[in-house]
Amino acid sequence: MTSTDPAGYGDGTACVHAGLPEPVPGTPFLPGPVLAAPYHLDPENGPAAAANGYGRVDNPTWRGLEAAIGGLEGGECVVFSSGMAAISAALLTLVGPGDTVVLPSDGYYKTRAFAASLPGVTVREVPTAGPYPSFDGVRLVLLETPANPGLDVCDIAELSAAAHAAGALVAVDSTTATPLGQQPLRLGADLVVASGTKALTGHSDVLLGYTVAGPELTARLRTWRDDTGAVPGPFEAWLAHRSLSTLDLRLARQSANAAALARMLAGRPEVSSVRWPGLPGDPAHEVASRQMRRIPGVVAFTLPDAAHVGRFLSASKLVYAATSFGGTHTTADRRAQWGDPVPEGMVRLSCGIEDTDDLLLDLDAALNAARAATAG
Ligand SMILES: *Cc1c(COP(=O)(O)O)cnc(C)c1O
Repeated sequence: MTSTDPAGYGDGTACVHAGLPEPVPGTPFLPGPVLAAPYHLDPENGPAAAANGYGRVDNPTWRGLEAAIGGLEGGECVVFSSGMAAISAALLTLVGPGDTVVLPSDGYYKTRAFAASLPGVTVREVPTAGPYPSFDGVRLVLLETPANPGLDVCDIAELSAAAHAAGALVAVDSTTATPLGQQPLRLGADLVVASGTKALTGHSDVLLGYTVAGPELTARLRTWRDDTGAVPGPFEAWLAHRSLSTLDLRLARQSANAAALARMLAGRPEVSSVRWPGLPGDPAHEVASRQMRRIPGVVAFTLPDAAHVGRFLSASKLVYAATSFGGTHTTADRRAQWGDPVPEGMVRLSCGIEDTDDLLLDLDAALNAARAATAG
């Protein structure tokens, strides 16, 4: 895998060192969270004299995490309290009444719902796999690739060029990929918006979001965060930073588990529509292989109906029924229960970092149990 790190380091090294301060004897590698709302001010010169004044505006714990994510993505990062806080910040900063936004029809459902609620904004929904309409008259093209939950992939470079030619801005929701999977800014996008709740932090214990862009957009998003107060707590920001050092290892195991489980699922008669962009023959495989540096550990597949999914999840010892994805534990979510426009039996399986053989055995047994109950 070619390095994307400015210093030429590989992904593991880049993640371990992401955003860390220079070594100073007697200090920790990663300084702890600074839990402060106000900081001491210079009595005479006020906030101009020191970096920290009030925690909502900026603080040292965010700066560390923003340096880490910004370094991995190749731009300037602003962290938010959740992925939706980052996405709504981007939409409300970039789009106003009279504007048209292009959004994925198969992407994260809340993004569509939020955009549809904006007064005076026209939303055009397009499937991630295309075909894409002309971007004439469009203010913002928000791509989501791979799309959650269906895992279709679009060509960021090609669509960014088309959007820019029409005068539109391009944002990419890169949540599923993480910065190790793809770096949208290097592919021509103007802005990354993402949830850090998923694989980026990966321990199912933090809600976080972020944007990455150039200096001008970043300045506007920082002001927006301060004005609206969509701020992550320093403790969450620190937990996220602490988790980043293992991102390379976690993704490697998740991806290997997804490869094995996708192949196993594709061979079962009661399972249909197995989607994993790493599977040769998957409709997204060609673009993903060209664009992505690694394929995420999320697999989509469909069982005959909702009850079948319920029996499968009840019978499994290792797969937790849970929404969200990208964590160290393998989880599965029946997406129709949240209102996604997918078949009732559609499952988004998020592969954790358990041993591949254990997962294969457990899923096989649970699927057999679910099928036997159907037959009986
Ligand atoms: C989860 C998710 C979000 C929202 O993130 P939160 O941290 O839950 O607010 C946005 N986009 C995608 C693709 C997601 O998977």
